[in-house]
Amino acid sequence: MKKDVVVIGGGPGGYVAAIRAAQSGKNVVIIDNGGLGGTCLTRGCIPSKALITAADRLEMIRHSSQLGIDVNGDITVDLQRVMEWKNGLIKKLTSGVASLLKANQVEVYSGTATFIDNQTIQVNTTGQSHKFQFYHCIIATGAKPAELQILPFDGDKVISSTEALQLQSVPQKLLIVGGGYIGLELGIAYQKLGSEVTILEGLSQVLPGVDSTLVRVVTKRLKQLGINVKTNAKVTGGNTDGDGVEIQAAINGSEQHFRADQALVAVGRVPNTADLGLENTLVETDEKGFIRVDSQLRTTENHIFAIGDVAGGPLLAHKASFEGKIAAEVINREDVEVDYRAMPYVIFSDPEIAYTGLQPKEAEEQGYDPMVSRMAFQANGRALTLGKDSGFIQIVSDKPTQQILGVQIVGPEASTLISEAVIAIEMEMSAEDLGLMIHAHPTLPEVLQEAAEGVLNQAIHMV
Ligand code: FAD
Repeated sequence: MKKDVVVIGGGPGGYVAAIRAAQSGKNVVIIDNGGLGGTCLTRGCIPSKALITAADRLEMIRHSSQLGIDVNGDITVDLQRVMEWKNGLIKKLTSGVASLLKANQVEVYSGTATFIDNQTIQVNTTGQSHKFQFYHCIIATGAKPAELQILPFDGDKVISSTEALQLQSVPQKLLIVGGGYIGLELGIAYQKLGSEVTILEGLSQVLPGVDSTLVRVVTKRLKQLGINVKTNAKVTGGNTDGDGVEIQAAINGSEQHFRADQALVAVGRVPNTADLGLENTLVETDEKGFIRVDSQLRTTENHIFAIGDVAGGPLLAHKASFEGKIAAEVINREDVEVDYRAMPYVIFSDPEIAYTGLQPKEAEEQGYDPMVSRMAFQANGRALTLGKDSGFIQIVSDKPTQQILGVQIVGPEASTLISEAVIAIEMEMSAEDLGLMIHAHPTLPEVLQEAAEGVLNQAIHMV
């Protein structure tokens, strides 16, 4: 029987698309070759956040004497048990995805999907193959770690984020090539767990592309944690031996050598299109291999859609899920398209960074007359009681209308705080709207409220 929708990939893009399509009465098949839940649940968001939680807990215990809590005796980390706990969380979540798909009557196939032509998919599982004819297909095959030719992965001394999330002992010395969000999050976690971490970043700041005023707060903390950060560092070569890895890097013109037990290479991600047989369709990719899509997520074949990491743009799980819903709704003949205006970006660094909407420069480029109002966490009672008072919240508004155009946060719980900013932008709220809302005390969102009042020159705790 011809299927209404075949979804390739069971990550946060694919499984969400499959369920949304099934909710509208479609007959849906999903095919995955790496475990339901995709990168996010099995080797990305969830395991990394579990590791960060363990590292933060340890850090908190080590630094609790200021609060009058003395921990006597050794504080030890058993990374094997941390990983077991993390694996338990993954199992819980991935089996939850399987149950949801079953409850929505989505047929699940485990194996690699390949286009035979633009209406037929073949699935190869061990020793078996199935063919499906489809009316619509959603490609949600995600992306994988990019490899450096001069320092290829060996799964032991030179590893990707996948292996870094499965280590059984804390490396004494860990080199991180690439100071993007994945390298930074894992670098901070391992430093707190006891590694001596060095980050080599090719550009002039870690987190390239992120507003430097936000990054500065994190850079200060990296220093405090003892992380060695080398910027403008271009890796020129490397070799491994029984003891570890040695990497050469050109830093501001001079060559330097770095030795470590392991090197985590986190220099970007490449789309998973190699096994798809796209050559048997008219689906086009861009110069980096990401599938080209329009604002309804249609590829250059009208009935084939692509969502999530494989379609490029920000490689984030919530972007993949959002696109999954849109693609399924378009297939259901709803008149919808993507709108990323209020999409949140989150980095689980220390402190966290989160932003949404327009940054000051972007607002200017789009013809607004932007005004920036900034409120520090230092003056917030809750931040002080949490012992986490570095950072700030900044609101970018349009001067004449006071409409909120963007919000940037660096500080405690930025990942959670950004949701209120998303509402403000999505609902086209003005700074006055946000300032007039009663915020509970003592809480971190009061900082956002005060930044909004700052737009009106009415913040109480701003000097
Ligand atoms: P994926 O989750 O990659 O799923 C694609 C699935 O398709 C995989 O299971 C793959 O095996 C399967 N597949 C591929 N090819 C085929 C084929 N031919 N046939 C069948 N199946 C196939 N994002 C966040 O928003 N927040 C975070 O905190 C965050 N942390 C991250 C931390 C790390 C270390 C990493 C690596 C990523 C992180 N991400 C985070 C990014 C997030 O994981 C991805 O953006 C998200 O998983 C993309 O979802 P997707 O559905 O597009 O693809």
